[in-house]
Amino acid sequence: MEQLHPKQGIGASGVESAPAVANEPVFIGARSGTGSLPSSAANAAEKPDFIRVSKSVRQNYEPSEEVLNLLETFRMMTNDCVRIGLANNASSLKRLSLLCYKELSRYNIVSYYKLHAISRAAGMLASRKKSIRRGMPTKDPYAVRPQLVSCYGFKVVNGVLKVPLGERRYFDVPLNGHTQNVLSEVGLKVRSFTLTASSVSLTVCKEVKEIECTRTAGLDRNLRNLTYGDEGRVVQYDLSKAVKIAGTTREIVGSFKRNDVRIRRRIASKYGRRRRNRINNLLNCATKQIVEEAYNGREAIVLEDIKGIRSLYARGNAQGGAFRGRMNSWSFGEAQRQVEYKAKWRGVPVIHLTKGETRGTTIGCARCGERLQVAQKDDVRHRRQLWCPRCGRWVDRDVNAVTNLSRRGRLRFDRSLPEGAEGEACEAMKGNPTTPAILRVDASKMTRRGIPRSYLNQRIILPSD
Ligand SMILES: [Zn+2]
Repeated sequence: MEQLHPKQGIGASGVESAPAVANEPVFIGARSGTGSLPSSAANAAEKPDFIRVSKSVRQNYEPSEEVLNLLETFRMMTNDCVRIGLANNASSLKRLSLLCYKELSRYNIVSYYKLHAISRAAGMLASRKKSIRRGMPTKDPYAVRPQLVSCYGFKVVNGVLKVPLGERRYFDVPLNGHTQNVLSEVGLKVRSFTLTASSVSLTVCKEVKEIECTRTAGLDRNLRNLTYGDEGRVVQYDLSKAVKIAGTTREIVGSFKRNDVRIRRRIASKYGRRRRNRINNLLNCATKQIVEEAYNGREAIVLEDIKGIRSLYARGNAQGGAFRGRMNSWSFGEAQRQVEYKAKWRGVPVIHLTKGETRGTTIGCARCGERLQVAQKDDVRHRRQLWCPRCGRWVDRDVNAVTNLSRRGRLRFDRSLPEGAEGEACEAMKGNPTTPAILRVDASKMTRRGIPRSYLNQRIILPSD
């Protein structure tokens, strides 16, 4: 850990060096913004070779009485700073530091915790300011939960996190197997820790080199599966279990009839949490596998723009309650979020298509561009398939969508390459009448480590029509 003397960080000149760690989102990615083009040999010179990526790992722990007091003190300090900031209309870290540091001298606590309390307050005030600017209603911010954040003074030794208590004393948090496993990666740095009354979260970062891609592959999130692939090969992760979990949760919550809103709310939040954990676990297995596949195949992952998808299933759209419930418990964004941060962690480029670029990916034939027709309602055999009148064949709805996505990402990808380098190869591929092989994977059958045991044997090749 770089050692910065706390006093240094607070002088008029050195304030900027005060840590801003509390404002970091939990899962942030690389410095490059979204929508950036994948690097290639041509533009690699302009981009930094290594980008820093960070993520956090969380586990539970048992706090001691002293630690709980520390968390409470930190919370009080934060609220003091917020109060001072509101009174003086200050939200920048620099002004807040100057205003608050003296005030915090009455707390008997390690001085870098004071810096972090100021930093945390600055973050809260800044987000309030942002909300005001956007015209959203705001309340005066107030830290409710006891918490402690620091990027100084702690150590991770032999699988134990040592949290400084002052006067060279430490509180030991034994790290569990998962956390130690995450920390064991080579080239990793632990940047900061966050303690709450029940959990500890470590922010880790590393420098990663973005891989050079030769291909693109689309990712499509559907209600019952996650489909990933391109013209040559498509892998489908079965998520029908997620639909079942969501349905069971709806039933359980709906079966409680007591007319007490507090109890209902508590039950709903408990079962909601359970549902989220179970579904996210399924998604985690699938997204991990997808990113590994992209990494091994040197593929850039193409994502569609799913903004506004919720409004498709809002109340008053002439849809049934059960249908809306099913569609709205579909975790559209979570799969993308997981793929994004996992891809960044591995250095796999992600291409975000715009709304315009995504248009027609489900309804246009991937081979000829003709508008596809939906099967008859009673046609059970072609339920997830679409008919192309020009090609005269049935196409799998999901396979068609990812092929289109991958190709549109590819167009963007080619534009970033020098003139004529790869563009023609793509044009030639357009008329290529290969039917992709489909691998179907049951996400729930994958092990916790994400190694799909059953998956390599499950190669299902779609008949050509
Ligand atoms: Zn066609």
